[in-house]
Amino acid sequence: MPRESTAAKLKRTQRILSALRRVYPDAHCELNFSNPLQLLVATILSAQCTDKRVNLVTAELFKKYRSAKDFAAAPLAEIEAAVKSTGFFRNKAKSIQACCAALVEKFGGEVPRTMDELHALAGVGRKTANVVLGNAFGVNVGVVVDTHVIRLSSRLGLAKGTDAVKLEQELMKLVPQNDWTWFSHWLIWHGRRRCAARKPDCLNCEIKTLCPQIGVKDF
Ligand code: SF4
Repeated sequence: MPRESTAAKLKRTQRILSALRRVYPDAHCELNFSNPLQLLVATILSAQCTDKRVNLVTAELFKKYRSAKDFAAAPLAEIEAAVKSTGFFRNKAKSIQACCAALVEKFGGEVPRTMDELHALAGVGRKTANVVLGNAFGVNVGVVVDTHVIRLSSRLGLAKGTDAVKLEQELMKLVPQNDWTWFSHWLIWHGRRRCAARKPDCLNCEIKTLCPQIGVKDF
């Protein structure tokens, strides 16, 4: 791809955003939740696991544990058994319990609404905090960077590399803050429905005229 000026890239990003907004008007977080605590727990469980599997697990989990206090007071082995099929279950159960204990101790059992407070909780990285802030509270503090966002940012020539923190900073400069949460959804939805890791459907892609398809020939 010939070198693109910053102004041209910003303009192309705007056109990509408009197109994706049209293609995915109903894009949303595909983890099921009905309150911020449920989204926090579901997001912790979603590491290295599909949203579909997490939704199956949380359908039962959230019937049994309804508050941060419930998770904090439960025997760890019980939580481990309940989340086992999501993988890395020992670490995830430990994080959920420690995180919920901190919510009870420091926040009266409520999920805090700031990046700093969320990020300080056990098992909560910047990505999880961004998911919770954007989807449970409607606060755009950053861009959720997951495997789809990394892959599509690269193919679309928006941001390079796999360092999530650096990539997020680059994307935040390109995308207007109001769209940060939407932008992640659009890329994730497009990644799942059109631009798969292997054999992306470039022929039928709705944004193919805006995409330099960087690295796609490798597949
Ligand atoms: S043109 Fe191909 S590589 Fe580019 S976004 Fe579409 S499916 Fe992905």
